[in-house]
Amino acid sequence: GPSFNDALLDGLNPPQKEAVEYRGPSLLIVAGAGSGKTSVLTRRIASLIDSREAWPSQILAITFTNKAAAEMRERVGALLGQTAEGMWISTFHSACVRILRREAENFGFTKAFTIYDSHDSRTLIKRIIKELQADTFGFTVSGVAGKISKLKNELADADSYARSANFDDPQERLFVEIFRQYTRSLSAANAFDFDDLIGQTVYLFRAFPHVAATYRRRFRHILVDEYQDTNHAQYSLIRELTLPVEEEPGSDQRTASLPGASLTVVGDSDQSIYAFRGADIRNIVEFERDFSGAKVILLEQNYRSTQNILSAANAVISNNFDRKDKKLWTDVGNGEKIVGFTGYSGHDEAQFVADEVTKLHEQGTPYKDVAVFYRTNAQTRALEEILIRSAVPYRVLGGTRFYERAEIKDVLAYLIAVANPFDAMALRRILNTPKRGIGPATETALGVFAQTNEITYREAMRRAPELGLGPKVTGAIVDLAKMLDEATLLLDPDQPADDGSVGATGSVAEVLTMLLDRSGYVTALRAGRDPQDEARAENVEELVAVTREFQKNNPGGTLVDFLTEVSLVAAADELDDSSGTVSLMTLHTAKGLEYEAVFLTGVEEDLLPHRMAATEPGGPAEERRLFYVGITRARKRLYLSLAMTRAQFGETAVAMPSRYLQEIPAELIDWRQSPGMATSRGGTQPRALNASRPGGGFNSRSAVRASDSLSFRDADAAASRPKAEWPNRVTAQVRDNGNLELQAGDRIRHVDFGEGRVNAVTGEGTKRVAHVQFDSAGAKKLLIKIAPIEKL
Ligand code: ATP
Ligand code: MG
Repeated sequence: GPSFNDALLDGLNPPQKEAVEYRGPSLLIVAGAGSGKTSVLTRRIASLIDSREAWPSQILAITFTNKAAAEMRERVGALLGQTAEGMWISTFHSACVRILRREAENFGFTKAFTIYDSHDSRTLIKRIIKELQADTFGFTVSGVAGKISKLKNELADADSYARSANFDDPQERLFVEIFRQYTRSLSAANAFDFDDLIGQTVYLFRAFPHVAATYRRRFRHILVDEYQDTNHAQYSLIRELTLPVEEEPGSDQRTASLPGASLTVVGDSDQSIYAFRGADIRNIVEFERDFSGAKVILLEQNYRSTQNILSAANAVISNNFDRKDKKLWTDVGNGEKIVGFTGYSGHDEAQFVADEVTKLHEQGTPYKDVAVFYRTNAQTRALEEILIRSAVPYRVLGGTRFYERAEIKDVLAYLIAVANPFDAMALRRILNTPKRGIGPATETALGVFAQTNEITYREAMRRAPELGLGPKVTGAIVDLAKMLDEATLLLDPDQPADDGSVGATGSVAEVLTMLLDRSGYVTALRAGRDPQDEARAENVEELVAVTREFQKNNPGGTLVDFLTEVSLVAAADELDDSSGTVSLMTLHTAKGLEYEAVFLTGVEEDLLPHRMAATEPGGPAEERRLFYVGITRARKRLYLSLAMTRAQFGETAVAMPSRYLQEIPAELIDWRQSPGMATSRGGTQPRALNASRPGGGFNSRSAVRASDSLSFRDADAAASRPKAEWPNRVTAQVRDNGNLELQAGDRIRHVDFGEGRVNAVTGEGTKRVAHVQFDSAGAKKLLIKIAPIEKL
């Protein structure tokens, strides 16, 4: 066997060693959180290179985030004592973009294709729905976007879907038409949406065997982290890449046949949190069947967390059915108790977080070793506000926010319009931004002109004089087209515009500055009367700084490289590192990461489990895995916090403790007193969620205004209730009284408040509120849609 550099096996336990040393066609490492899966994968790469079994260029490693990829590359480098050039360590999306940039010309795209993020996709879908008047048939942008994405994750396209569609159903006919138009618009724009990046790469391999063979020959070792979250398209991609290469009979080149690449996957089905994106837990369960003869290695010792944290994690996850029971253990000792905190409000909770972080910092924990997690992005507002006020430096990870800002999208559209002249959407966006007196009618006319003459939108702009528009408008359009052409030339003096290839020689920052100058975009912002405009101008300057930074890090980087990086980063995680700051992120982003101290906030019903997930089949189990992921990020200290009321959608609503809190043995949590709350000795126990009752489990944050009522249900009764009755075993259903007709004078019965009389009904649609005088519970305001009420 190969002889190993001892340093590569240093400190590993026996199964970990085995996982590094094993050689064979396929290896599956299944293990709980923090057991060294990612570490083992990293060492395995280093050992393959170190023992000369593989060139770095023969390795393809797939990680979950760009950040994880960067870390893995760095660690492999450190283990080898040098950076290994040519290794592909990246996310599924980045790897596919690299392949598509090289190969897209095989199937009618240019290598300067645009990547549409979900916002771009929605803009396009919105336009199509409008054109087909599909909204009158009940189609919504998010409904269509979700369905198309789901289909693409299953590798279905408009045609394959149409083949199995029921054309007697007008809804389905219409959907097929929308899907078709969407597909057509994307390819006309020389663009891929996010799901296409994977799906079209699979298509490419299947349609062009010689292309597939190139990559099968190249990548001899494929390693996938977080395998439990791969969806069908990603699974198929791996399958394609690991197929053997057949000898080509009759080929003039000597093409020897090759066995399939060796495949190593690591994962933990308890951490599968992307079912909503089509992730298929079966991929891991059925790995042994799909890759016959696969070696399976289990890891059980956890090296990350204290026993108290692990015990909590084990207790929570053991409530999920359908899983292999595995218990994580550690030899580092119990450590500190978990700290629990119940605040009055989201602000109160945020203040607790800020105070504790400050305390930890004073006691020697660097800010960078602290993370704050939340279920939804909306929760950041209170946290950010208080952290700023408390002078705690922080950074929001996975913050797509910057790149979602309108002004940033505007400026990026200029760059995209330069890089990809086919992208009509980008051109339309900048046509009248800043204002040039070009109206929507002209915008459409240009589109029609382009279509009838089969030219690009940009070419149509150049030929605007043929449209017979007014001289001012024509001049404005032609000027803009000229500006874009000049930018194209600036990037690549040898290439005329419109051939799509942008082998840049000029710097991205230079081009961007020129575009901003010439278009007057920033000047227009500065002249604007909106007080926000100054901040917007600053954001644009920040983007210029990002391009400079990019050029510094990638001296040969092209505009297309920059746009690729932006779209992938914006979709996944941050450019900057988070040294010296507390990291804020959603639970989904937290996967794979670890921090000395973790604050898991908003541990409430309707947030965790999320309201949307609570009623879906498998939803509460998936949310429990998410909670498990959050808990297992903590090395030494874990804080679980919640609030009694939370501001959402401009309303303050009563919040209930998450059902999952009850699953953690009480002795593991030290509940801290919330300021001003009446407590019994021993701290504040969160009031428990009422268990299921006849008529279905009702578990909704009722929209009773905080000022009206803070009626938490009886805590002591709840605490003594046997565990089996906790509603985690009940598929909770959110009530929908949307159609309940109520008017002043009606008598109703409320599950908790008993009978009462409606005094008034205000608001409309889903926001209708009943003002009720209960016979014994006093006056309340109830959101009719979800309140547990019936009319008498
Ligand atoms: P997750 O499921 O959260 O992705 P993981 O299984 O990938 O976790 P790693 O991140 O690889 O786990 O490892 C968790 C921590 O344990 C890391 O800090 C790692 O350095 C450390 N670790 C792993 N194996 C060992 C070992 N044999 N000895 C000491 N520390 C180890
Ligand atoms: Mg990992």
